[in-house]
Amino acid sequence: MPTIRIDDKAIDVPDGATVLDAARQVGIEIPTLCFLDGQSPLTTCMVCLVKLAGTDRFVPACGTVAVDGQAYESETPEVHAMRREALELLLGDHLGDCEAPCRLAHPHYLDIPRMIRHIAADEPGRAAAIARAAPPGEPGETAPPFERACRRGRRDEPVAIDALLRFAASRDADAAGADAMRDHRPFSVIMGGLDEQELEAFAEAAPDAGKQPRVEPAGKLYTLDEARREAGRCLHCDCRTPVSCRLRHWAERYGADPRTFRKKHHGFRLHDEHASLVFEPGKCIACGLCVQIARESGNGVGMTFEGRGFAVRVKPPFAAGMDETLDDEAVARRCAEACPTAALVMRDHGEERE
Ligand code: SF4
Ligand code: SF4
Repeated sequence: MPTIRIDDKAIDVPDGATVLDAARQVGIEIPTLCFLDGQSPLTTCMVCLVKLAGTDRFVPACGTVAVDGQAYESETPEVHAMRREALELLLGDHLGDCEAPCRLAHPHYLDIPRMIRHIAADEPGRAAAIARAAPPGEPGETAPPFERACRRGRRDEPVAIDALLRFAASRDADAAGADAMRDHRPFSVIMGGLDEQELEAFAEAAPDAGKQPRVEPAGKLYTLDEARREAGRCLHCDCRTPVSCRLRHWAERYGADPRTFRKKHHGFRLHDEHASLVFEPGKCIACGLCVQIARESGNGVGMTFEGRGFAVRVKPPFAAGMDETLDDEAVARRCAEACPTAALVMRDHGEERE
């Protein structure tokens, strides 16, 4: 049974165990994105780096077998800086908004998209809990900044956020709106402006929003039916996996700055042809988990790598559509659950902060 050291801890591990196994055994938290229990290590993301003590070598903890007598550094500023850089490299190429433009433009960063979804789902009490978390604005003649920031406004007319806020705040709240408001700007990768074609592709992910015209309230406040129809116009610009996205989780934890290695916008695309899942290549970090899972399951034509080095991408092979690649529902679900970002998401996946 080999014994290794990580920082100041001596750890006995079974033969064949990795440095990551050893760290987990004693509660040392090492970040991972491309590693999944039960799958062979891929060592593509490089966020689990540890330093071999007494050398200049950094190695991925998930793919390094523990050798008796060796010592590793994990919780040092130097190792943390290397992990942060690995995260920033991934964030620099990540095309997607963690938080919607409307939320980022609100003075208290109110979770407007979540409030709107509750209205659309006929849950006015839950919408009220969010709307009441922030001081209400005065009704004005010009739309407030958070409404002017609405992405839908670039397509036709912005969602009537201010009127929806007043509608929600007028209802009885079910409970306190968890994490509804912040006193500091929430962490977010920012996708930036989309051209007309990209905006249409983006709107396809929210098919119900369609081309409905903006609903004006007949009275002073929306009725529930009016509010629900207007809420249905929202494009759901915030991330579909706000809680489970491991890239965001570790980026926040390590203080990674998404702007450090920001690359030129490379075009928003959405693969919407699969009956059960959607694939957003811009959010893919090419970890390879879906490629490995699909290959091992023998399902469809699977997913594949294209290109090399920093230009590598994961995509359906040849000219195949996503409906041909992961056509087995169970395999598609496993891939979506394994995906460390919101690149692969099941259509029935509903995830909110509360
Ligand atoms: S479409 Fe919805 S989520 Fe997007 S900015 Fe407008 S209100 Fe916010
Ligand atoms: S789509 Fe596949 S390769 Fe890309 S991040 Fe998700 S699991 Fe990894």
